Amino acid sequence: MGKPHIVVIPYPAQGHVIPFMELSQCLVKQGFKITFVSTEYNHKRVLKALRGNINLGGEISLVSLPDGLEACGDRNELGKLSKAIFQVMPGKLEELIDRINMTEEEKITCIITDWSMGWALEVAEKMKIRRAIYWPAAAAILCSLISIPKLLSDGIIDGDGTPLNNQMIQLAPTMPAMDTANFVWACLGDFTTQKIIFDLMVKTNEAAKMADRIISNSAYDLEPGAFSLAPNILPIGPLLASNRLGDQLGYFWPEDSTCLKWLDQQPPKSVVYVAFGSFTVFDKTQFQELAQGLELSSRSFLWVVRPDITTETNDAYPEGFQERVATRGRMVGWAPQQKVLSHPSISCFLSHCGWNSTMEGVSNGVPFLCWPYFADQFLNETYICDVWKVGLKFDKNKCGIITREEIKNKVETVISDEKIKARAAELKRLAMQNVGEAGYSSENFKNFIEWIKS
Ligand code: UDP
Repeated sequence: MGKPHIVVIPYPAQGHVIPFMELSQCLVKQGFKITFVSTEYNHKRVLKALRGNINLGGEISLVSLPDGLEACGDRNELGKLSKAIFQVMPGKLEELIDRINMTEEEKITCIITDWSMGWALEVAEKMKIRRAIYWPAAAAILCSLISIPKLLSDGIIDGDGTPLNNQMIQLAPTMPAMDTANFVWACLGDFTTQKIIFDLMVKTNEAAKMADRIISNSAYDLEPGAFSLAPNILPIGPLLASNRLGDQLGYFWPEDSTCLKWLDQQPPKSVVYVAFGSFTVFDKTQFQELAQGLELSSRSFLWVVRPDITTETNDAYPEGFQERVATRGRMVGWAPQQKVLSHPSISCFLSHCGWNSTMEGVSNGVPFLCWPYFADQFLNETYICDVWKVGLKFDKNKCGIITREEIKNKVETVISDEKIKARAAELKRLAMQNVGEAGYSSENFKNFIEWIKS
């Protein structure tokens, strides 16, 4: 008999591919073989970013399926992409599994899919394969998706998913307040996109009933309210904390690891790490204000400036900025973020509050400055600033801009706030306890492994 073989299927976005890779690495350590399914488009990006330098240890095999869009189609149009995936990928997945299953010792034991790829559960059920959902964001967000029928019957949203009155609601008394305008489906694009995504989410809620298990990259101690509202969601995270020494895999951009050497030369707790994940785009005014804020603060900084981070095609930095900050500022296209955040020279994390970034900051005990852009990032900001109290929010001016003075002031405030630093250290301890020996997340993960093997 070969090793038990799992098919893993992330939604094709960077913030999903990375935590699914992390989960795959954890499963390999437990003696599984993984077939990691990407879309052809992302598969090519990952291989290109690795520059042929692939070392997955033989137990993770990367495969790709078409996503249903033309090669030149715009993958940022999430409605179109999700619809095309839904139409094309189920059939292709079935063919893939049929091919793999032709070799007896390769036979698929289990499918682990993203909630956002819930159609894979129907394929698994049809093929009589056990199946699980892995949710890579806050459990509270999954609670909001599962609550769609209740939100409809309570008149909080209409049949298209549009919030009837923009308001703050709590899904349960112990859960953080959510702004209905920031429901995930309501802020991913225009009305057509919202409608497509919302309808798919309603369908996925049905498909999710076929899941034998739901695991998530969170911890009971981080989101007790969400886990008591939905006790069937089993936290196994923060996953990276249990996968500490592993390299992050599945990047869409080549990582610039030279910044680690630069960090080695900086004093302890002296560098502000600035990164906005894989999606966020700045207009020129706000980008320049951020640059000037970093310049105005006297601190050293490491700033991730993705090639596509601004709407500008040409250099968007203020004139002479790079020369002026050369001795204390470093800009990179894509950083090995987990290694950066665990570096002793980092003092705080100026973040867009994506869930992966949030978990990575929490696991390293780093205080946050929160700059959310859309969707779940606002709820994550609420967790960081109002629930865990390990970070600060920015205030916008009358024109909706976060000014250079505001940036400078908040950087100084968070770095000198001993209470925030102490709480961040305590939160790290709690997170580590959850993934430590006999921690709740570890126990859930062990049970999950036993279930797959049984
Ligand atoms: N990331 C990285 N290097 C960078 C910027 C981001 O490795 O320079 C990783 C980060 O560690 C995280 C992921 O990209 O795992 C971003 O996910 P997140 O949920 O924070 O944000 P999203 O990209 O989904 O908005």
